[in-house]
Amino acid sequence: MKTVICPYCGFGCKLLVDPQTLIVKPHKGKPNRGKLCPKGLYAIEFALSKDRIKKPLKRDKKFLRPITWGEAIEEISHRLLEIKEFYGPDAVAFIASSKITNEENYLLQKIARLFGTNNIDNCARLCHEASVHALKTTVGTGTQTNPYEDLENFGAILIWGYNPAETHPVIIRYIKSAKKKGAKVIVVDVRETITMNFADYKFIIKPGTDIVLANAMIHTIIKEELYNDDFIKSRTTGFSEIRMATMKYTPQYAEKVTGVPASLIQKAAKDFALAGSGAIMWGMGLTQHVSGVENVLAIIDLALLLGYIGNKGGLYPMRGQNNVQGAAYMGALSEFLPGYIPLENEKFRKRVASLWGVEDLPTERGLYLTELWDAIERGDIKALYIVGENPAVSEANFTRVRKALRKLDLLVVQDLFITRTAKYAHYILPASAFCEKEGSYMNSERRLQWSEKVYEPLADSKPDWEILTLVGKALGLPGFEYSSVEEITEEYFHLFPELEEKSVKDLKEGKEMFLPKKRLHTWEFATPDGKARLIAVEQIPPWESTNEEYPFALTTVRLISHYNTGEMTLRSPSLTKLMGEPKILINVEDAKDLHIEDNDLVEIETRRGKIRMRVKIGKVARGVVAVPFHFKANKITNNALNKAGTPEFKFSAAKIRKLKSG
Ligand code: SF4
Repeated sequence: MKTVICPYCGFGCKLLVDPQTLIVKPHKGKPNRGKLCPKGLYAIEFALSKDRIKKPLKRDKKFLRPITWGEAIEEISHRLLEIKEFYGPDAVAFIASSKITNEENYLLQKIARLFGTNNIDNCARLCHEASVHALKTTVGTGTQTNPYEDLENFGAILIWGYNPAETHPVIIRYIKSAKKKGAKVIVVDVRETITMNFADYKFIIKPGTDIVLANAMIHTIIKEELYNDDFIKSRTTGFSEIRMATMKYTPQYAEKVTGVPASLIQKAAKDFALAGSGAIMWGMGLTQHVSGVENVLAIIDLALLLGYIGNKGGLYPMRGQNNVQGAAYMGALSEFLPGYIPLENEKFRKRVASLWGVEDLPTERGLYLTELWDAIERGDIKALYIVGENPAVSEANFTRVRKALRKLDLLVVQDLFITRTAKYAHYILPASAFCEKEGSYMNSERRLQWSEKVYEPLADSKPDWEILTLVGKALGLPGFEYSSVEEITEEYFHLFPELEEKSVKDLKEGKEMFLPKKRLHTWEFATPDGKARLIAVEQIPPWESTNEEYPFALTTVRLISHYNTGEMTLRSPSLTKLMGEPKILINVEDAKDLHIEDNDLVEIETRRGKIRMRVKIGKVARGVVAVPFHFKANKITNNALNKAGTPEFKFSAAKIRKLKSG
């Protein structure tokens, strides 16, 4: 049996795959402890799809024709160097992938920086970059602070804007086990989710009112003197500012704004504080707002007030894709070097440069993934090299992204399939699937895990690290003489002092390995003075407001059997059979007003366009509609960005019109 890391969510389950039958079974070790969700069980199916690209392809006018690897690498590198010579290195941008290994992400950001640009980003920009910015500002590191196993020992779990039962199904086992031991579970969302089946408190709030609810909980905790005075005095700064700022956020005020009864806000805040220890878990429901950074700051304040960090609690920004944490940690971000070290850190930057055989690296922040489309329109970006991402579907307001992709002088897409994005490409390079290569991944709890090769790469496809090695060499960059993936692993190990004592052999043998360590901030924070910052935040409204013409607040949600832009799950017969047709969720009263019944076909329109979908009447706040994210929803979502560059996927003013009875 081969041990392989699940290619889907950031929880990071280990799969045992029989190389002969390709039957998948759950690994008994951590983190999944003998469990898998349907996505893991059917993980191999998409890799066996007949749609896989088998040879490098080049566009000749409208048609794609096969070419050799030699021709593809030679022509692509020649065009990239021409564009660099004519317009400078910043006219080229690279998009890394949350689905490829650490080694491959590490190589792509190495190519970008040695090429001379920090225009390297990945889809962490679309999900948890707001969490990274808020966490780095307050506690000094931008990641989840504790392992999953700690969840079982905390007295309370607050789950906010996050639906683990569908997005990271296996983690529900840890939450259930905490509950068995008496933990109180509070779930905050804009609709009734399956996760709420495990909740002691189910708070269905109006979209975009998270700060008001968090501040009202803080208000209650301060008023009732339930905060951890010792912790606040010895390990934080900013308490008096928080006290002042939250005075006006009474539970009664919060009831009016959020829709949650004041008495329940008070009760939940007290239960959370009196639990003695607690975790806060959150997802895109908090980050994908123009107030994303401030939303996260508000809940971090809540944790810090109670000392719920380190041994007594943890912050869990749950990562979406299987290696989104690794992509970010390996430096595939336009403002950070590996390890989230800022570009301005000269000592570290020069250390990386010297490891790569050059004197220095570019210091100017590169473009965020979400800033690329306007930059292409302005003519600032001429070439884009995309590995395993599908921005023509995953970006908010994707019509403008598709328009921008058409304008590029050079678009290279490295992927398994001719995705919606690849349809615009000048060159498509066939990558091998996760089970056809080896390498390391990092899950949401920062656990490093090795994934083994189950069978040889399909046809003429190559593992991404091999393709990138060829590209790096053809561009004339130093240090691309790798003959095995382990050589790249060893190289990135050298960048992190915590891994100096560890070996790649240990990692391959499955020894427990966290980067930088298992539990963060137990004694001091990673800030210059070792103290965490409590930062007061005020309510920030969504970018758009509803009005007579657009009376609904549209939000996007995930489905258990689907993943990201559907390129993988839609090619899995078992998963598509399980799910059926995606539907828009609408409140029963709203449905009555619009004379809509279950299964009717409706048109949903925002200021950016229209889509059609069938209806499911369900438990969502009045005035809110929830659309599955995986398919066409981003045609109509809002691309207004927050401070971390994440679009407001979770709030668009919308109208709905019935087209046909179901
Ligand atoms: Fe894969 Fe996530 Fe499901 Fe585990 S919970 S099997 S990692 S999709």
